[in-house]
Amino acid sequence: MLKATMISRASSCSMPSIACSKMKSRLCTWPSMRQLCLRKGIHRGLFRFLTMPFKTVWGASRTFKVAQFCNVVNLSSSLQIELVPCLKDNYAYLLHDADTGTVGVVDPSESLPIIDVLSRKDWNLTYILNTHHHYDHTGGNAELKAKYGSKVIGSAIDGDRIPGIDILLKDGDKWMFAGHEVLVIETPGHTRGHISFFFPGSGVIFTGDTLFSLSCGKLFEGTAEEMHESLNKIASLPDDTSVYCGHEYTLSNSKFALSIEPNNETLKSYAARVAHLRSKGLPTIPTTLKTEKLCNPFLRTSSTEIRQALGISAAADDAEALRVIRQVKDDF
Ligand SMILES: [Zn+2]
Repeated sequence: MLKATMISRASSCSMPSIACSKMKSRLCTWPSMRQLCLRKGIHRGLFRFLTMPFKTVWGASRTFKVAQFCNVVNLSSSLQIELVPCLKDNYAYLLHDADTGTVGVVDPSESLPIIDVLSRKDWNLTYILNTHHHYDHTGGNAELKAKYGSKVIGSAIDGDRIPGIDILLKDGDKWMFAGHEVLVIETPGHTRGHISFFFPGSGVIFTGDTLFSLSCGKLFEGTAEEMHESLNKIASLPDDTSVYCGHEYTLSNSKFALSIEPNNETLKSYAARVAHLRSKGLPTIPTTLKTEKLCNPFLRTSSTEIRQALGISAAADDAEALRVIRQVKDDF
């Protein structure tokens, strides 16, 4: 849990809007998704190379050069994402399609911080997307829906647990957000009906409480096998996919990760960067799948160092290793 390092609401207005490129006329089905995403990855890879120095500048000084530069470089870009800190350590994410003015929010745990941003920008709220039913992801649904007439989108499995739900989705469904394709991936383990929203055209996934940076959600309604399978689904997406999760837990997660894999040089370097960002009150989100694969112990269940540190047999399968890692972290 975060303490003094939490981002204040007042600072949320200085959070960057991150513009993401969008491939138009994209047809993306599960069997062909990887191929299409890889092609898209080339565009994004070039884009990220071009913007790298600007991201560094932003991280150090909170300038807004990233968003401005992205918008200029990606002429077809129209999806913007804005982090909105909520409650103690939650993030909601505002989605804005600049072409149509359509606005959505992912996991509004409370309404006021969202209303603040919407009012400031004079935006309406068309959609509310929920990754799962927990109150710290849906607490703002009722008030936002009443105020803006928004449609609430979530898992069909949680049709009776997500407040105000209008559109019920299941694994493999494709839903459109203002021309941006959204693939629904069922990712149970934390809860039975947990889903993740993947935007293949922008290389962005909202993972709620399934995949965090350097950790995964607690197993409240699912098994280690289910969580392992869910994480595998997410990990099969392109490495440069940007991961937006439900909480700013990264600093405390880094301490656990380092405790069981202290010789992971990439992890050490990432943990130092995370500590630097948090010391300045800056978010560590989004992370990327590449970083998580190299550093997140729950995606590294085959690591010899982790297994030796926790006494997990080399013969144990990955789901069993995940179960042990989760159990140890629960007591960390
Ligand atoms: Zn949750």
